[in-house]
Amino acid sequence: MKPHFHYLLCFFLAVSLQLGHAQNTTDHRFEVKTLIVFFDGLRPDYITEAQMPNLFAFKKRAAWGKHHHSVFPTVTRVNSASYATGSYPGTHGLLGNSIYIPEVAPNKSIGTSYGDLSKIPGATSGPLLTAKSLGEVLADAGQKMMVFSSGTTGQAFLQNHTVNGAVVNPDLILPESFKKQVSDEIGLVSQGTDEEMGRHKWITDALLKYGLIKNGPLVSAIWFSDPDGAAHEHGIGSEEAVKAIRYVDGQFGRIMDALQAKGTDERYNVIISTDHGFVTHKEKPGLADFLIREGFKKDKESDDVVVAEGAIYVKNHDEKVISSIVAALHKQEWVGAVFTKGIKKGDAKGEVKGTLSFDLIHYNHPKRSGDILVAPNWNDAKNDKGYAGTDFSGGVAGHGGSSPYEINIALLAAGPDFKAGATTELPTSNIDIVPTVLSIYGLPKPATMDGRPVAELLKGPQKAMGNTKKLVLKTEASYPWGTYKLSAEMSVLGACQYFNFAQTERTPAH
Ligand SMILES: [Zn+2]
Repeated sequence: MKPHFHYLLCFFLAVSLQLGHAQNTTDHRFEVKTLIVFFDGLRPDYITEAQMPNLFAFKKRAAWGKHHHSVFPTVTRVNSASYATGSYPGTHGLLGNSIYIPEVAPNKSIGTSYGDLSKIPGATSGPLLTAKSLGEVLADAGQKMMVFSSGTTGQAFLQNHTVNGAVVNPDLILPESFKKQVSDEIGLVSQGTDEEMGRHKWITDALLKYGLIKNGPLVSAIWFSDPDGAAHEHGIGSEEAVKAIRYVDGQFGRIMDALQAKGTDERYNVIISTDHGFVTHKEKPGLADFLIREGFKKDKESDDVVVAEGAIYVKNHDEKVISSIVAALHKQEWVGAVFTKGIKKGDAKGEVKGTLSFDLIHYNHPKRSGDILVAPNWNDAKNDKGYAGTDFSGGVAGHGGSSPYEINIALLAAGPDFKAGATTELPTSNIDIVPTVLSIYGLPKPATMDGRPVAELLKGPQKAMGNTKKLVLKTEASYPWGTYKLSAEMSVLGACQYFNFAQTERTPAH
């Protein structure tokens, strides 16, 4: 997006600086640095002046994407990998917080901690992520990235899995050689009753010490594991969740103060998102238990049918078993959208009647996606604190489903390259963040990146973006008990299709 004369300027600077500072001759376009901030599980309606004064103040001067999307399945590590690679799960291959990699464990799903993820390249003789990440593109350009995260090791690692620069998390510091320096200089996370808050403070300290410094990395990223953690345990709007929200907002305030103190010496674009929204949960049976009870799966350890979160893998892709499982799921009130592979590439409908396709939701990975993907059913019911959105899932509250309460999130960005106070109703997604950063730096977008630069929020000349079209896909299947109906709404902008939500309806037979 930079005009030509920018490069000319760069060239003259390069020549004129050659006498004294040969090292910095080509760095002009990297003068403005980038800070990416993720608040885990941040519903847009949390951003109020009372609850998040610092983020609220930021929002007032920021460019703001009003139709921003979490990537489905709306879980943490899917979005961590999707944002880092600017691509969908069907491209990067990290399909859930729990995943099925038969070469690692043939009869069960594995977690996605750093330890689990580290087994994948060796076991599969292939890469962990099958898409190029921001860290790798920056490495090609001779630049670095540092990731700071108070959450899980997996979420932290997936943001910079080739460790170009560093990954700093209370439980994981990479490269290994950086570990001693961090523990000497920052110390350990303070233990005790407020350990979670201690982790947020600790990574903020680390960001200020190693990320936002002169000659620091071109891109710094910080990921706060709250409000997600407290809301999972105590519910949306609970006293504990509100306390956690205020705390991480306070840490964000420290970061903003530090940037302000730097003034024009060091300038930053700050981009803010979250991995997913949040809903209240209403109890449901576990998917694996259900399949065992219905006779589709022998027992918890059997490899006939393997479950990884909402994904179901049927041995040898037996079509009869797949369609029988889908029929059994369609009848259950707690089951929402059901997806299967399309008959041919690009089909919106799935191969099994009454399902939509993996392609539609950008989930069709050539090696790793299973045979069925199930989202929990959901409704607009409010919780005791007045927050709307309820899923049929286990636990107090959470995310992972296909409701708008989980998919619809906030995108905020401010800095020298963003239009202050601009808003856009055009669809954006977490996969668009990295393409936007690359476009600011004039760096090439790898072929694996599905996302687009959010040019409508950037300064400078730009081509017309076109209009967004809403597309609704419908399918249904009838049974002796009644009819299962599924619809999915997409926002379409040029070649980009954003998944807004999927909804189900069951009508009893007469
Ligand atoms: Zn999360």
